Amino acid sequence: MTQCYCCSTKSFAECCQPLLEGKSAAGSPEALMRSRFSAFATKNLDYVIVTTDPQARADLDRASTEEWMNNSEFTKLDVLRATDEGNKGTVEFKAFFKMNGTDEVHHEISKFRKQAGTWYFRDGKVVPPPEPKA
Ligand SMILES: [Zn+2]
Repeated sequence: MTQCYCCSTKSFAECCQPLLEGKSAAGSPEALMRSRFSAFATKNLDYVIVTTDPQARADLDRASTEEWMNNSEFTKLDVLRATDEGNKGTVEFKAFFKMNGTDEVHHEISKFRKQAGTWYFRDGKVVPPPEPKA
């Protein structure tokens, strides 16, 4: 059994794979966020684009997203907080990846929006790393 890339402890087949293959839809912002991480881990750029809010897709820098995806090895996901209320949701997470052999962390608060029953990624705000303690 392949553990899911999103670190849910479930198998990939029971977690993000059906979403990535379009066989099921994310039932919550957290599920969508997890599946987008798995898309990054499996270099599935189309899924990242398709799950971005159609109105925000124009702002998506396809080339730089693809470059980041292809040059990174996504190793771990920590979901710190997830909320959803009506058709809006937020997920705060840390995505761990290696780029050029260096460990990196991407800490973000993502906003999600539900349109016609489907959750979409709306936009994200990067949380800067804490100042190193003196
Ligand atoms: Zn998963």
